[in-house]
Amino acid sequence: MPDVDTVRAFLDEPHVAFAGAVDGFARAELRPRPEPAGDAAARVEAREVLELLGEGGWLAPIAARDLRRIALAREAIAAASPLADAVYALQALGATPIVLAGSDSAARWVEEAVAGRAMGAFAMTEAEAGSDVASMETTATRAGGDWVLDGEKAFISNAGIADFYTVFAQTEAGRGSKGIACFVVPADAPGLAFAGAQVLSAPHPLGRIRFDGCRVPGGACLAGPGDGFKLGLATLDLLRATVGAAACGMAARALEEATAHALERRQFGEPLADFQLVREKLARMATELAAARLLVYRAAWVKDRGAERVTLESAMAKSYATEAAQRIVDEAVQILGGRGVLADHPVDRLYRSVRALRIYEGTTEIQRLVIAGQLLARAREAGSGAPAGRDRS
Ligand SMILES: Cc1cc2nc3c(=O)[nH]c(=O)nc-3n(C[C@H](O)[C@H](O)[C@H](O)COP(=O)(O)OP(=O)(O)OC[C@H]3O[C@@H](n4cnc5c(N)ncnc54)[C@H](O)[C@@H]3O)c2cc1C
Repeated sequence: MPDVDTVRAFLDEPHVAFAGAVDGFARAELRPRPEPAGDAAARVEAREVLELLGEGGWLAPIAARDLRRIALAREAIAAASPLADAVYALQALGATPIVLAGSDSAARWVEEAVAGRAMGAFAMTEAEAGSDVASMETTATRAGGDWVLDGEKAFISNAGIADFYTVFAQTEAGRGSKGIACFVVPADAPGLAFAGAQVLSAPHPLGRIRFDGCRVPGGACLAGPGDGFKLGLATLDLLRATVGAAACGMAARALEEATAHALERRQFGEPLADFQLVREKLARMATELAAARLLVYRAAWVKDRGAERVTLESAMAKSYATEAAQRIVDEAVQILGGRGVLADHPVDRLYRSVRALRIYEGTTEIQRLVIAGQLLARAREAGSGAPAGRDRS
């Protein structure tokens, strides 16, 4: 059972039962699965895990936009298998724009996605448009009632294995965010092709997709020029705190492994747990993890209570939890000594997996710009006398 007591104030009774159930599933079904060796094996494993998540009903909170359940699921699943967490994350990222847009014609993808029968993907980033995503160059051109997509997306999770892609494209050169529209494109649409894998050090299917005159019907457009960008930001705003939840899951597993090792391993005639320097590490790891979880579940709770935006709360949750998780996992490796860097050790897997969380769905630096931007805007509104300066958020 995960530590629900720390965040109990942000949960209702049914969440506590859900936390126990999803943790039980993750420990029984996901933890024993070995880390896939290589990219091809990771792609097969991702599809198998998707079926398990769908059959168990664990993806249902995505359609319900139940952020606390998504966070609890990601925390438990990430602790057991970072790859399974990536699968969960992409089902949410692929389906949420359809849910938020309320599109009837694309609703079948949400149904299939939460049942684990269709794998989703979220195609925003390009080789030259990362943090500055509004500079994207993939185009969408009107052709009668249809749209035609051209261009290439990079760093797309599930590229090559997804069944549908939620795609962002520019409808008018030079309009920046105001020209960006959002589409749902089936993987077998003529003109859409997998353009190659981008292989990570931790298993995570990633790659490029290419659009060459890819024609989609008008109903595939989830949000038109300008609104597409807003839909993308609203999706990220909603789900960002759950990246923090995944980070907490990885950190909790690392702390669990390090604590067990510290109690068992003896050097100089004593268990490692008796050395003050090791205790100091464990204390700092546990405290940072508790702080991270409080920020994550606060953001999810604020959203579930009906707040329109949780930009500030989710930026704090994501940046703090992912940075803290990196430190916690690193300290766990240190406590494990040489065993912590053996390739088949769960903590080594966490060490390779946790790093990307500080980068995707908005880097830590971009989250800090967002936090400072909100802080400064509030200070100006309150007439604190702060001089009007340039801020980019
Ligand atoms: C494992 C993984 C999975 C991903 N999955 C997806 C996906 O499914 N779909 C998708 O669309 N994208 C995905 N991405 C892409 C991801 O969202 C981008 O990598 C991320 O937004 C950063 O863009 P970039 O890599 O181009 O870095 P850049 O934007 O080039 O940034 C490089 C560095 O510069 C810093 N920087 C940039 N601008 C500023 C600024 N104004 N002020 C201060 N510092 C700044 C950044 O914080 C970072 O440290 C994934 C990435 C990874 C690693």
